Amino acid sequence: MPQVLPHSLIQSLQSVNGFDEAAFIQAHVSAEKVTSIRFNPAKYSRFSKQYSVNDLQLPIADAVPWCPYGQYLSERPSFTFDPLFHAGLYYVQEASSMFLWQVLQQTLGSQASSLKVLDLCAAPGGKSTLLASYFKDGLVVANEVIKSRANILVENITKWGYPNVVVTNNDPSHFQRLQNYFDVMVIDAPCSGSGLFRKDADAISEWSEEAVVLCSQRQQRIIADAYACLKQNGLLIYSTCSYSPQEDEAILDWMMDNFQLSPISLQLSEEWNIIETISPEHNARGYRFYPDKVKGEGFFIAAFIKLDGEHFFAPSNKLPALSKAEESLWLPWLYKAEQLYLFKQKETAIAIPEAWHQDVAFLQKQLYIKSAGTLLGNIKGKDIIPHPALALSTILSEQLTKTSFTKEQAIQYLQKKDIAIDTHTLTKGWQLAAYCGLPLGWMKVLPNRINNYYPAEWRILKN
Ligand code: SAM
Repeated sequence: MPQVLPHSLIQSLQSVNGFDEAAFIQAHVSAEKVTSIRFNPAKYSRFSKQYSVNDLQLPIADAVPWCPYGQYLSERPSFTFDPLFHAGLYYVQEASSMFLWQVLQQTLGSQASSLKVLDLCAAPGGKSTLLASYFKDGLVVANEVIKSRANILVENITKWGYPNVVVTNNDPSHFQRLQNYFDVMVIDAPCSGSGLFRKDADAISEWSEEAVVLCSQRQQRIIADAYACLKQNGLLIYSTCSYSPQEDEAILDWMMDNFQLSPISLQLSEEWNIIETISPEHNARGYRFYPDKVKGEGFFIAAFIKLDGEHFFAPSNKLPALSKAEESLWLPWLYKAEQLYLFKQKETAIAIPEAWHQDVAFLQKQLYIKSAGTLLGNIKGKDIIPHPALALSTILSEQLTKTSFTKEQAIQYLQKKDIAIDTHTLTKGWQLAAYCGLPLGWMKVLPNRINNYYPAEWRILKN
């Protein structure tokens, strides 16, 4: 039985554009489950060379209309037991949030892929994986202040496989060290979470008017702390999953009061049923997603151009490059290696897009970096020990030996169990465990057994 929605929330929404009390309550009572995924463009193009949508074994329904890689599913499958989920072929993301793609497309177009982008409140990584794909030639800094959540972020970014992401674990105030640095800043702020009531009934019991006030104060603090790191003419995107005007339109007005920002108006297709709202003081545009109107959960998003600030002058910094001998050992493992810069952190080799190595060196001096680029692995004597991140990365060479598993074998591999397969016909040594053409991780084939190198912390625990 669904819980009753807080009366004070309903009251606070009465005069908000697009709010239809009866339809809103009905959408929560019916508790319709909307499931959506967003495909990984780089991995989908590899997958589709040999396989088709039918091989996905997913209940594919309509496309999400505002995001080219978004797809609704007619029911929620067990993602845990889908090897392609672990291969990073798709991310399970709520459809309304995918509107971020539309905001980027309408404000920057497709020309702008090589920009520096900050995702300030990034865990678990829904928006960051979208940003990594959108800005595929850019540099995405995905930051999460809470340490345990930063670890989940690293895992999701690693599985997504793009080398252009740096994961940091910093307080928003630390970004003041990077004055005028970013071209784009996304603040998907922590909020009172009413937009998720339909998906998560516990969120209803945790909701209170006091929480809304505290969240709105925290949102202001986060924006004020990080504002300086966006450059002049930079794009600032603010979003929440709260319906409360104090966390949405009132924050837009507060931003207009305190900073020099020009609000952006977006084009909406009528059939999307997304509601444009106008902030009461400064006419800033916000976009509301109500579950009785869109096929998705509650969401709010707005975009601005920053008018003040300056341009950033790139510092010259250096990362410790690999020796030529070490580099030559890694080259056969990599795709388009000439576009990568290889460096070493302690004993581990790492690859970052060539265009961004000075920036990563600069960021390393200012922030606490949890991961940057793709970890390649270690060299022990003449042996190479590849890192799990390399297996899942889009920079992995397509020429490496791999064994395509059946679904059952792939699950055994992901559970880190012994795999029921005859090893006699397999090439000995390091190779990739793959499913539907996509690598899942490394294994070492010995004459009479397979050593399974799937990371213990990622393994499927369920049977
Ligand atoms: N952007 C994420 C995504 O799409 O997957 C969801 C982000 S969630 C709405 C907000 C994030 O802000 C949480 O990961 C939370 O840990 C983080 N957070 C909480 N307090 C914060 C603070 N004071 N400053 C910055 N981030 C904070």
